[in-house]
Amino acid sequence: MTESSFAAEASAGPFAGACSAAARRSYLQQAAAGELDVLIIGGGITGAGVLREASLRQARALVVEQGDFASGTSSRSSKLIHGGLRYLAQGQVALVREVSRERDVLQRIAPHLVHRQPVLIPLYTDIGMRPLTARMGLTLFDRLAGVDSEHRHQSLKRAQVLEKVRSLRTERLVGGLQYDEFSTNDARMVVETLKAACQRGCAAMNYARVDALTYADGRVTGAVVTDVLTGERYPLRARAVVNAAGPWVDHVRSLDTAQRDAAMNAKRLHLTKGIHLVFSQARFPLDLTVMFPGVDERTLFAIPHGDCTYVGTTDTDYDGDPGAPTVTPADVRYLLDCIHQVFPDVDVSAADIIGCWAGVRPLLHEPGKSPSQISRRDEIIVSPSGLISVAGGKLTGFRKMAERAWAAAAEHAGMQPAWARPLKASLTEPLGGGGEIGQDALEACVDRGVPASVAKRWVSTFGSAWPSLCDLYASDKAMQTCLDAPRQLVAAEIAYLVRHEMAVRLEDVLVRRTDYYHFSAGHGRSVAHPIAKVMAELLGWDANRMAAEVEDYETYVRTCQGPAVYGST
Ligand code: FAD
Repeated sequence: MTESSFAAEASAGPFAGACSAAARRSYLQQAAAGELDVLIIGGGITGAGVLREASLRQARALVVEQGDFASGTSSRSSKLIHGGLRYLAQGQVALVREVSRERDVLQRIAPHLVHRQPVLIPLYTDIGMRPLTARMGLTLFDRLAGVDSEHRHQSLKRAQVLEKVRSLRTERLVGGLQYDEFSTNDARMVVETLKAACQRGCAAMNYARVDALTYADGRVTGAVVTDVLTGERYPLRARAVVNAAGPWVDHVRSLDTAQRDAAMNAKRLHLTKGIHLVFSQARFPLDLTVMFPGVDERTLFAIPHGDCTYVGTTDTDYDGDPGAPTVTPADVRYLLDCIHQVFPDVDVSAADIIGCWAGVRPLLHEPGKSPSQISRRDEIIVSPSGLISVAGGKLTGFRKMAERAWAAAAEHAGMQPAWARPLKASLTEPLGGGGEIGQDALEACVDRGVPASVAKRWVSTFGSAWPSLCDLYASDKAMQTCLDAPRQLVAAEIAYLVRHEMAVRLEDVLVRRTDYYHFSAGHGRSVAHPIAKVMAELLGWDANRMAAEVEDYETYVRTCQGPAVYGST
């Protein structure tokens, strides 16, 4: 860690350690006091990845995120770390090779976030992939991904397929294929990437929006950042500015007054929307992820997750507000039709939907191509003023994308040449919680008085960070208060999210630090008040602010769930 690092400075704040809610303002003040090596706009997985690369070089770097971390597309994905098998059919061999190999890297650096997930592909003679093509595709995929012999795909007979998933359509089913992908928690992947970078001395700040770029001699030299929670504005100077604003990339590019129209038009985003529907396992029982054809030959996933099964995604053109995509009745009808075609025994209707989410893909426009045909590759666009924009890509491939964006920033800002070269450490340095957990972690947690069920969840969710939660638990009797008996949520966990993950709003906790919003009936509204009470203590909220947070969360749920869950009222 360098002398000038944010972590060293932040530890002087009221909450020691980086990525703490209390240190938010001090980060901006410190950043405004000197020149940054890199200012990164956007706290989704792309911005987090670039911050991680910066931290591995001990650069002075800051991420600013207009909402909460991962509040854009990076909390609205299919939550799969996947090699993109279906892109092989489009001939995107290099993309599949790179992304599928990144699965191994992510497993290594974030084992608590990347879980092997067998995927079944039922093969029919009338719909979906042709059996021979699918077999050849998976053979090539195994090779490209460097899959070891133990985990290569398997061919299944018809009876074996039905043994694994009884609810599949039997008519014209000829067999199946099984191969491995990985499941994740996308928003936590972002937060853990940021945390690791902050622990190395960089900083990340949520609710901090870039409103304008600043220039000297036609070159971009920084940005004006507004602290959305206080309204304070800070002019920040940086040797390089990286635009990692996902679906807002073109909006940020439009702030670049030195950007020539021609450059803006030559490469632009093509936004598409994807939605997911969540059902209880009681209504849609499933033990195994199934990749299945949609009614129009698009490919969908049905994915088991705890007590739920979720199904997605669609891929339709989108020209609305990137921050507010919603699930429309037409989206719901489409997904239900797809489910009924392949799972005729799963008798689900719109009334059975317990949750949904919509996300916007920031793809690069390719004339004449439909949403699902557009490549998922990423691209770096450098404007005449030196603004580095990163567009496209996948959650799974974020590390390589960040490596390229970082290299472009280092080169254009004339940083030391060694900084632009890929680092081996990027392949091995753990994300937050990705370090050694230790065989006796559970026992050690329980020895410190933490109930076994809480300890188990902490170790699986927070990985090697479990001792910090135990410290909070032991620090004060109030930290041991149970807030949600079925889930065994205790106050210490909320304190951890505030102090170590910069949760500053109730929505941050319920939507992105935990999975209440996505995967619990009622979206965690029953625990909103108790959680807000703990946050109020930690963040100094008065009764009005606490009530407003609960009310705002209600509004968030109603707006985002929309007609799919609440009907058209
Ligand atoms: P974002 O996550 O949107 O982050 C950009 C951030 O920039 C936003 O949080 C935004 O608030 C912020 N921002 C914008 N303007 C400003 C400003 N002026 N100042 C400050 N901050 C600003 N990939 C996979 O690998 N696996 C999957 O299973 C998968 N499923 C998907 C399913 C769907 C429906 C979709 C839409 C995508 C899926 N993807 C998946 C792709 C993946 O989710 C995206 O590629 C990735 O999340 C994009 O991350 P990002 O950081 O570029 O964008």
